[in-house]
This record gives sequence, structure tokens and C-alpha cells, in this order.
Amino acid sequence: MSSSRATFYAHQTLNLHARYGLSDNAKKLLRAHDNWKMGGLERDQLGRLVRMSPDMRKSITDTITKCAEIMRKKPAEVKNCIDIIQACTEILDAADKPPDLEGFPFLKLPAELRQNIYRWYATKIVATTLVAYSNEVGCDCGKWTPPNPSTLPAIHRVDMALARTCSQIKSEYLEFIYHKYTLYFACSCELNKRLKGNSTLRASLRSIKVHWTGPVSDKAFSRLAKCKELRHLDIAISKSTTNFETPREKEMRRYFHSMKPARLADALGIEELLSIRGLTSVCVSHVNGRQSTKRTDEERANLQGLLIFKLRVPELD
Ligand SMILES: [Zn+2]
Repeated sequence: MSSSRATFYAHQTLNLHARYGLSDNAKKLLRAHDNWKMGGLERDQLGRLVRMSPDMRKSITDTITKCAEIMRKKPAEVKNCIDIIQACTEILDAADKPPDLEGFPFLKLPAELRQNIYRWYATKIVATTLVAYSNEVGCDCGKWTPPNPSTLPAIHRVDMALARTCSQIKSEYLEFIYHKYTLYFACSCELNKRLKGNSTLRASLRSIKVHWTGPVSDKAFSRLAKCKELRHLDIAISKSTTNFETPREKEMRRYFHSMKPARLADALGIEELLSIRGLTSVCVSHVNGRQSTKRTDEERANLQGLLIFKLRVPELD
């Protein structure tokens, strides 16, 4: 413990304040100074006490004058006087420090209150589905991006100013967004890339719609299966879903030379898709595009039935 930390109470034990004739205001400030040193008071609060009235500041300058006088007359008191003068100068420093103009201490609010503020801030986002990262990943996998731009706003086009304030707020706000909205991914490559590089997304993703297409669908769905918060999955299918097949199907075709079009059950990623657990709902939809790009309704219904059964999704009554 430094000598200045217990100054007030140590001096009180010695009846120093009475012997030096210190004023009530001076004692109040010296006690507050000890409190600040012990971590019970902010420096700003100490400064505010001094600025409350001219009398408070005068009590400190008077105290310094008294101590200087005592030091001159009683050399034995020098150490105590120096301690008090040092405390006084620190009190004046606190008073002269400009008030904290950095703004409202948002991060000191309880986490629940911050969540309420994020919820309020996001009320301007009226869509329930956001295009996660449209046109940012260069890939050639047959995707349609975005499938329905008039109804799906891109996440980077909604007001994300709050996410640019500081890293903690950014992380909390994105966590909130990822958890509240359905995110649309235009292809599996995009989903794979974003899940790989964004730990907040992996930890908070709750609902997604993804166009099942691309050469890394297996990797993307494998990563998706590790997202613990994932509850809703909407798989959009198209003719391009079967452009890439499972390794097994590729091998079979080498030997059996089948000219039949590939089935959804042989599309790359099917095994990983079927390994996803913990969902409360799953659905399969046609990709939004020309009729010629779509698969049949029967295929859509069959895949949906398979996913509901294999992913053990509880069916609604
Ligand atoms: Zn792609």
C-alpha cells in the first residue's frame, strides 16, 4: 500500500486534522481522495466535488498553506504535511481535468439494457431475411444473386453505423443481428467462406436460407452442422445443385456410365447436410429464377421429407 492510500484515516488516528485546524470541507475532500485511491470513487467524481463551490477549492488551497506553515515551524511534522499537500495537489488536478466529453458510458450499462438498445436500433430493419454478403465472393458455381433483390435487403445496406463504433459494440450488435434475422447466402461457397472467417457468425447464426450449389457444399454444410445456435434451415434448390456430385457418385459414374441426370440425393454436400442436428424447422424451396433453372415440385417435396426425417426435426401438429 502506498503512503498516500491510507492518508486520511491514518491522519485521523493521529488527530492530525484537528491539530492542523483543517476545515470540514477540506476533511470531506481528503476523505474522498482516499476513497478514490482505494477505487471507491471515479476521478471525475472527485473533481466534481471540488467544482461544486468556490469554498471547496479554497479549502484545499488553505490546507496547502496551513501545511506549509506547519512544516516551517515543526520539522517533525514534515512527512505528514507532505502527504497532505500531495493529496491536495491530486485533488486540484482532478478538479482541473476537463470533464469527460467522450460521451455516454454505453458499455457500462448492463448487457440486458444494451440488448434492448440494439433491439430498438434494429426496428428500422423491416425485412425478416437479409442477404448476408451479396456479390462479394467471386465464384462460378451457377448461383443466382440475389434471388429477389426487391424483398431481400443486403445486410451491408441496412444501417450498420452502430457496428462501426468499437469492436465490442460491433461484436454484440452483429451477434444480435445474426441471431434475430434469417440470413440468405447465394451459394455454398459464400456460406463456407463466411462461416470459416467469422466466429461471431458461427456462434450466433440462428436461421439461414442458402442456395445449395457450388463445389464446396460439403465443407459449407459441415461447418453449418457445428453452429450450435442454428434452429431454422431453408435449403433453396435448382438445376445447378447437382452440378457437383458426391465423391461416391462421381466414382460410380466412371464405371457405370449412366446418362441419367444426377439426383438430389447424390449432390455434393448431401451427407454433411444430413448430419445437421438441433433444428426446430427445416424447409426446401425452389431458387428464385427462371422456370428452366428450377427442379420439380416432387424433388423439392422429397428432399424436404428426407430432411425432416433425417435431421430429426420435430413436425408441427
Ligand atoms: Zn458460389
